Amino acid sequence: MSASAVPSKNAPLSEADPEIYGLIQKETTRQEYGLEMIPSENFVSEAVLEANGSVLTNKYAEGLPGKRYYGGCDVVDQIEEIARERAKQLFGCEFVNVQPHSGAQANQEAYESVIQMGDTIMGLRLDQGGHLTHGHPVNFSGRNYKVVAYGVRESDQQIDPDEVMAMAKEHRPKLIIAGASAYSRHFDFAMFRRVADEVGAILLADIAHYAGLVAAGEYPSPVPHCHLVTTTTHKTLRGPRSGLIMGKQDYAKGVNRSVFPGLQGGPHMQTIAAKAVAFGEALRPEFKTYARQVIENARTLAQELTRHGFKIVTGGTDSHMMLVDLRPVGVTGKEAQHTLDEVGLTLNKNTIPFDPQPPTVCSGVRLGTPAITTRGMGKSEMVTIAGFIRDAIQNRADPAKLRSIADDIRSLSSKFPLYRHRLVS
Ligand SMILES: *Cc1c(COP(=O)(O)O)cnc(C)c1O
Repeated sequence: MSASAVPSKNAPLSEADPEIYGLIQKETTRQEYGLEMIPSENFVSEAVLEANGSVLTNKYAEGLPGKRYYGGCDVVDQIEEIARERAKQLFGCEFVNVQPHSGAQANQEAYESVIQMGDTIMGLRLDQGGHLTHGHPVNFSGRNYKVVAYGVRESDQQIDPDEVMAMAKEHRPKLIIAGASAYSRHFDFAMFRRVADEVGAILLADIAHYAGLVAAGEYPSPVPHCHLVTTTTHKTLRGPRSGLIMGKQDYAKGVNRSVFPGLQGGPHMQTIAAKAVAFGEALRPEFKTYARQVIENARTLAQELTRHGFKIVTGGTDSHMMLVDLRPVGVTGKEAQHTLDEVGLTLNKNTIPFDPQPPTVCSGVRLGTPAITTRGMGKSEMVTIAGFIRDAIQNRADPAKLRSIADDIRSLSSKFPLYRHRLVS
């Protein structure tokens, strides 16, 4: 290994650190030849990867553009301004902070900008689709705040506006969170705003999952209705692993202070540049076509799985994802996840509303189409994939049959090249 500190004289990763290089090659292979159906994952463009791996990682830029605590920020100021302008254009928001390192941090920063420790927050029940940061006891949100939760109706597994209003009136939360990690239907943000106004609460939408669909105009936008909107940038939005806070101008100062110096130090300028690139991509007409295809693919998949005897929670989907109730086919979420992993189809077990199984077992799986749609897959592939899922689960005790399904999955993904040029064979 070279001891030189001058990058131009450094060896490439393959020589400098063959161990890590080899593992990255392995992961590239896994992504290339598997079927990625975790709804929170996606595949970024080469342009996003390049910005994310750039020399911007070297730069300290605490503060905001034009108001930094370090010198030499002219260039990164321009980059962050472009990221902010593109985000505003994409979502039509009054203000945006592009510095949050992740979705969870964006939530903590947004909450802390408007409420105090001990205040009451209200979000979707975690076992019915909510996220850890919406009030789980082991998370900061559950430890710092008093948590109440609304749920879905047993009859159709959809959010019940009457329950949301009744819970709000009873508990008078300071902050209401509309958003989910496992809810396939539209959120009625206007309804949530009426509830928030009724009890004097702040309304925050967490669109971590739906952001790309919202940006494309294919999912209702919370921006006109909410005081604050948080999101990740790496799920349907197809950018680098990161977060974002948007909102009404009145909340800008509080959010900016909460992000820095409240909870973060120097912003990750390489990630902010990658976000700018991803926002630029999402502003193009092709992204709207992509978002539409994501939803169409999810609908096809839901229909096909239903045809094969699976039950889709809520009876279908309006988004990129769905929850599959596996009880009619007699398998648990845990078993299904394991079996599908074996054949190269990646998804996760998930509780379904009113799940009789514990969260370690689950009666369902959660799956989504953002990543496979990025590869170029469409309706006919969805039909094929639903067949793989049925066959694998039916034959889960038959290793030979599973091996043959794994071969079929590999040859299907082989037809949709992704990062193949990055592999050395
Ligand atoms: C994924 C997700 C988050 C957290 O994002 P991270 O970047 O993993 O911290 C927050 N809220 C919701 C609703 C999510 O789905």
